[in-house]
Amino acid sequence: MAPQQKSKVLIIYTGGTIGMIQDPHSHSLKPFDFNALTAQIPELKKFDIELSSISFKKPIDSSNMHPTVWVEIANTIKTNYNKVDGFVVLHGSDTMSFTASSLSFMLQGLNKPIILTGSQLPIGIIRTDGKENIITAIEIAGAKHKGQPIVKEVCIYFEYKLYRGNRTIKYNSQHFDAFKSPNYPVLAEAGIEINYNKHALLKPKNKKLNVYTELNNDIAVLKLFPGISKKITQSILQTKGIRAVVMETFGAGNATTQDWFIDELKQTIKKGIVVLNVTQCQEGEVMQGKYETSAQLKKIGVIGGYDLTFEAAVTKLMFLLGQSKSTKEVIKQLQKNISGELTMV
Ligand code: ASP
Repeated sequence: MAPQQKSKVLIIYTGGTIGMIQDPHSHSLKPFDFNALTAQIPELKKFDIELSSISFKKPIDSSNMHPTVWVEIANTIKTNYNKVDGFVVLHGSDTMSFTASSLSFMLQGLNKPIILTGSQLPIGIIRTDGKENIITAIEIAGAKHKGQPIVKEVCIYFEYKLYRGNRTIKYNSQHFDAFKSPNYPVLAEAGIEINYNKHALLKPKNKKLNVYTELNNDIAVLKLFPGISKKITQSILQTKGIRAVVMETFGAGNATTQDWFIDELKQTIKKGIVVLNVTQCQEGEVMQGKYETSAQLKKIGVIGGYDLTFEAAVTKLMFLLGQSKSTKEVIKQLQKNISGELTMV
């Protein structure tokens, strides 16, 4: 039998705590280069995986993340897609769920693993969670079964768990276990072995990668709270130039039934602005029409977001609007499962 070829994994370093090491002189945290990484994690040399790396010129704290950086990541993946078997994207954890969601839409026809990971403590700190996160993320990015990648989607690996990226939320700013995927099962768990939840993994039909880099961020967010005023609601809904509003509602997609509120929404929808209803709850879904307090919304043309996370809602809209689709087409696509982000019943 011919010897199996070594898997090749490209590490893309965008920034975040994981790649910071302490400067011995100034004691401040600064980004590493790849040699510094292998110096910090000598285990990487023992891998039966061929590693290469690309570091962004100006690594960022992910709170400075921007769609232009998502495009840079997507283009880096596109350029190297045929050269490697998988990718590990090192990224700050703060907005990692947004980046993972966005990439899942931009990279259509993906058939290789894109594993985002990071850490809560820098790699140079003794108790860092970064080492285990990087090592296992690389192993998953290089994992194959019968010559085929096991994972064929955009994921987040953090603290022994692999998640579908566009289902995640960052829910803890202090614990190592920083992510959750409330509406979708974990894709794999790393213990003594990495146990893949094969039924939950995405099985892409399309085998040809198509990278969509047009994103439109003309999106407003209306988060409801009891007592929200007409003036605040108007200031958001009447923002000049917006094409969509993500409305964060209560429970199963419910909102106040006050006439002024429904009228404001009606006028917004009349202008061709998409209003997408997602719930403020972390788990569960929007079911417009279940209660009287959401039946009105359905009637006037608010779009139910089912179990979309807020992160997936924002990035899916950016993606769909970026394709300059008509409002009608955007609404149609919003209700379809494009990249595993939605549970359709
Ligand atoms: N603020 C950092 C970032 O998101 C936190 C982290 O790396 O986890 O870039």
